[in-house]
Order: sequence, then structure tokens, then C-alpha cells
Amino acid sequence: MNYLSQYIVQFHGLDKNEHRFNFTVNDEFFEYFEDGIIKGGDFDVIMILIKKTGSLHLNISLKGSVQIVCDRCLELYKQDIDFEDTVSVEFGDETNFDTNSECVILDKNKSEINISQFIYEFANFALPLQHYHPDDENGNSGCNVEMLELLNKHLIKEEEKTDPRWDALKELKK
Ligand SMILES: [Zn+2]
Repeated sequence: MNYLSQYIVQFHGLDKNEHRFNFTVNDEFFEYFEDGIIKGGDFDVIMILIKKTGSLHLNISLKGSVQIVCDRCLELYKQDIDFEDTVSVEFGDETNFDTNSECVILDKNKSEINISQFIYEFANFALPLQHYHPDDENGNSGCNVEMLELLNKHLIKEEEKTDPRWDALKELKK
């Protein structure tokens, strides 16, 4: 069985009403979405599906944490996430999950929908703009201090190096 098939929801037999579904996401989920910012995670997903004539409304909320790389010390850290948004699904000739548009299109012959892509996108939307280790309770940076020192040393060395092209120019000016 395909791992992501656990995120398939059958809506065909449901009445026109609200229906609640629960899912969990862990590290393995992110192995199916390569090269992303998120390297792992552990969170709960609640979806309220509202079935209407000719459309579905999926209210999806995520709560838990994901693993991402800290921009300051370059180590993985746990980022809490708490996010909620709605996907409107309309029926058409071909499935098109381009979420940049107002609504996504699902092949009208389908009786089920896999929501794993929406969960993945929402997990990314849930991230803050800056990816830093959170401070501890004393207000100290949670970053890996040794790693920061190494990175700083490296930076200073880079600055000390002179550019040979400038040296050549200086010689010319003399
Ligand atoms: Zn850090």
C-alpha cells in the first residue's frame, strides 16, 4: 500500500453535511516530498469536510511541530506549528491541485480525494519567516554554541582574505 494513501478520504457516500477526519503526520510523511525545507515532523491534522452540491470544502488544521534547519547555526530544530486554512474543491474534467488558484479541481468521476499535498503545503505556510532556534526560558539563544563559533571563525577568515585583483590595482596606482 502506498504510504500516502492513508490520507485518502472517501466522500462519495457522505451526506451533505460536516464530517470530521483525524490524521497524524510523522517524519516518514516528508520522505515523499523531497527537497523541501521541512525535514521531519510530528503533528495532528483535523479536517472538517463540508459536502455541498457540486463542491467540497476542506477545513484543515495542523498542530504540532516540524523539523527545519536553523538559519543561524545550520542545525535542525523543532519548530512548533499551529495553522488552519480551507481548500475549496470543485469538480471538472481533469484533476488540478494547483493551490495558487481560488479552488482546486477534482476529476468529476472521482469518489475520493488524497489530501496529503494540502497537508504538506499548509505545513510550509505554517512556518515563520525566520527560522531560528527558539530561546530557552532564560532568554538565551537555543542555537548550538560550538557551531556558531565555528561559523563566526570561518566568516572572519573570509573577511581577512584580500582579493588578489585589488592588490593588482593598488600596484598600478603606485
Ligand atoms: Zn540555531
